Amino acid sequence: MIRKIEHLGIAVNSIKESLPIYEKLLGTSCYKSEEVESEGVKTAFLQVGESKIELLEATNEDSPIAKFLSKKGKGFHHIAFDVDDIEFEINRLQTEGFEMIHTTPKSGADNKRIAFLHPKSSDSLLVELCQEKKG
Ligand code: ZN
Repeated sequence: MIRKIEHLGIAVNSIKESLPIYEKLLGTSCYKSEEVESEGVKTAFLQVGESKIELLEATNEDSPIAKFLSKKGKGFHHIAFDVDDIEFEINRLQTEGFEMIHTTPKSGADNKRIAFLHPKSSDSLLVELCQEKKG
């Protein structure tokens, strides 16, 4: 089951430059920064009520974020849904005809198991499923 919007991902050129703007905008401080080496990204999280904002900065030229920034510039990147059973949702969505970028969950930032849908099958919206790691 998809339970809620877990976070919105925003691509930025530089977390150092953008984070103070988001902190001022939201009236809250970043509670976690983390690098996900496998994805070539640095992340910074801000809590917004039940949901979060995830700022994403590329750490190398091959990073999906670097490619996104060069095509579209900074701004909204992806929506992430909190799910209670990520394997079940991957299966359900594939059965419904959606194409997964990750057909098995991988380790993401903020203590999550994640899987992305291919935007070409989801009306050009980049969608991430995420489930809190247990323990
Ligand atoms: Zn995300």
